[in-house]
Amino acid sequence: MEPGEALERIADLLQRVRNQRPKVLAFRRAAEAIRDIPLVELRALADAGRLTDLPGIGSSSATVITEALAGKTPTYLENLTVDTEPPTDLAAPVRTMLRGDLHLHSDWSDGGASIEAMARTASELGHEYLALTDHSPLVRVANGLDARRLEQQLETLAAVNQELAPFRVLAGMEVDIRDDGSLDMDDALLSRLDVVVASVHSKLDMEPAAMTRRMVAALTSPHVDILGHCTGRLVVGKGRPESRFDAEDVFAAAAHHDKAIEVNSRPERLDPPRRLLRIVDDSGAKISIDSDAHATWQLDWQSYGCHRVAEIGVPVARIVNSWPVDELLAWTASHASA
Ligand SMILES: [Zn+2]
Ligand SMILES: [Zn+2]
Repeated sequence: MEPGEALERIADLLQRVRNQRPKVLAFRRAAEAIRDIPLVELRALADAGRLTDLPGIGSSSATVITEALAGKTPTYLENLTVDTEPPTDLAAPVRTMLRGDLHLHSDWSDGGASIEAMARTASELGHEYLALTDHSPLVRVANGLDARRLEQQLETLAAVNQELAPFRVLAGMEVDIRDDGSLDMDDALLSRLDVVVASVHSKLDMEPAAMTRRMVAALTSPHVDILGHCTGRLVVGKGRPESRFDAEDVFAAAAHHDKAIEVNSRPERLDPPRRLLRIVDDSGAKISIDSDAHATWQLDWQSYGCHRVAEIGVPVARIVNSWPVDELLAWTASHASA
């Protein structure tokens, strides 16, 4: 592969699957910068370690160019292709069973689109419902909603639902699980929500025993329906290691309380990893395959999660967002009254 082609491919993949505009632009600039430079000349610069002398060529681009000149598939491109490989046919049968998406964000917290835009796209993707799950206040960087703003959002939802019926926008929140396992929102407000996803966003590296207690406590709360991205890992770029906890205990608690473990479909998360998803499957806990979308185009990411679920062979009946909305709401209501 020619160096310029490699840089363009990387920019395309970054643009299609990730929301990393600055990097997309940097790789496009690099491709542009070397377009008119003959290969011999590029090779001489690479051999001298002087590619970064060229305007628009940073160290990542220089490595890509050097590897491409050596006849190798650049590592950057290879990594990107591995984790952004579009889901195969395996995903499709599971994806077609899904009727909704239970974890996504709007511009009320750190999402990029309005509630209505997210709902319209979800509807175009064939969904009958979604749960709007903006962040709670503890996630300050994400402009989490405090009680007052959540109240306002609930009022807004009534209007959106009237407009989009029969499509349903369910009231929800991705509530933060505090260090001690308590939830970052008033009980009174949580009890008014249709769907609550509880997630860990801080101290992801706490001791396994404490993390286990933290997650089990959240799953025991009558407000919580789904445990979000349980390991917190990030598998691209710099990455982030998995939180450590007793997976058997946590998933058994989910099964005991009839809750769901989320399969987070974001390509940089794909959480839980296969190894843990097998334990979820064995535990009998429900699962929810969610996009965790922060933009309309990311709603389509559910296929990545569907692929994982198909690989492990989790029975479709245990996927809560494959259920009709009334069944789903009866399930979440059963937690509140437990
Ligand atoms: Zn989250
Ligand atoms: Zn989220």
